[in-house]
Amino acid sequence: MEERITPHLRQLISGGSGAVAAQFMGAAKGNQQLFAMEDPLGEESQYSPVKGIIHKYPNRVLWKVSYRCAAHCQFCTRLRQIGTSDGDLDRDDIDRGIAYLRDHPEVDDVILSGGDPLYTPSQTLHILEGLTGAEAVRVIRIGTRLPIHSPKSMSSPHVGRLLERIAEISSEKTFFFLAHVNHSDELTADAREALKLLRRTTATLLSQTVFLRGINDEVGILKTLFRELYYLGVLPYYIYRCDYVRGLERFVCDLARERQIMTELRANLSGIACPTYVVDVIGVGKIPVPLDFWDVPQISSCRDFAGNTIDLSQKEN
Ligand SMILES: *Cc1c(COP(=O)(O)O)cnc(C)c1O
Ligand code: SF4
Repeated sequence: MEERITPHLRQLISGGSGAVAAQFMGAAKGNQQLFAMEDPLGEESQYSPVKGIIHKYPNRVLWKVSYRCAAHCQFCTRLRQIGTSDGDLDRDDIDRGIAYLRDHPEVDDVILSGGDPLYTPSQTLHILEGLTGAEAVRVIRIGTRLPIHSPKSMSSPHVGRLLERIAEISSEKTFFFLAHVNHSDELTADAREALKLLRRTTATLLSQTVFLRGINDEVGILKTLFRELYYLGVLPYYIYRCDYVRGLERFVCDLARERQIMTELRANLSGIACPTYVVDVIGVGKIPVPLDFWDVPQISSCRDFAGNTIDLSQKEN
């Protein structure tokens, strides 16, 4: 993945934000590549029935609108794809995705992701129009980092048109925006205004965060972040352990440290302001990590949704 930094982020970096610099500057170093897996979540290999769609849980699908984003987060799980045209969907691909959903009425929840769906608003609008005809779909979630990467782009005519349409479709389907935010330095005045534009659609605003070593793995940093999001009416939904993807080694934090931080946060924040801490386990899904309020024998393995024991020390794979 190439380095790609927007003028807005450049400004934050030159203004002295080490947290922003560390997220966007510098591509992965070859000699640090300890992790073996390029596709640890099995997205392409196991769960993709139609180009762009990942159907891993019975009632919900992830739909990757493209692999394009305004800026490239160097810790991205889809590091090997972001910035390429590989994920571009043509009209036929979109029609096949809609047909798949019509054939699978058990799917009631569609998560538009990527890449950033708001970075390619016309494409996303086309998918949304298709989804209006998929009656079983009741909930549409849209993951985005555009308000952080390039808040001004949120006022472009194309994004404006998309947001207007979302407001209209909201009378039939329930929308959530999932804003990806990792540090309060990202919540600039412009970013806050951009989040307000999302709120105007009447969608519920949620956030997601990734634990990043040396960037946000401190109680104080995350406490400020989750409080600020809460004040803005953005509910912290998930905080992920950074995936064991080749090239991301330098970002992965210590599991015990993460758990200690989340325990302290849960003791000090409202439940509404405290996200669920999860590990996205290979072939399984997002497994919540138990916090240190109860005695758990050991945390190097967990059980999946089917009850199988999964070893979490995947680095040696
Ligand atoms: C995260 C994810 C979902 C949604 O999971 P929720 O727990 O409902 O937020 C759905 N499909 C895939 C492939 C995912 O990675
Ligand atoms: S915005 Fe999301 S998909 Fe795009 S590079 Fe960042 S983490 Fe990856």
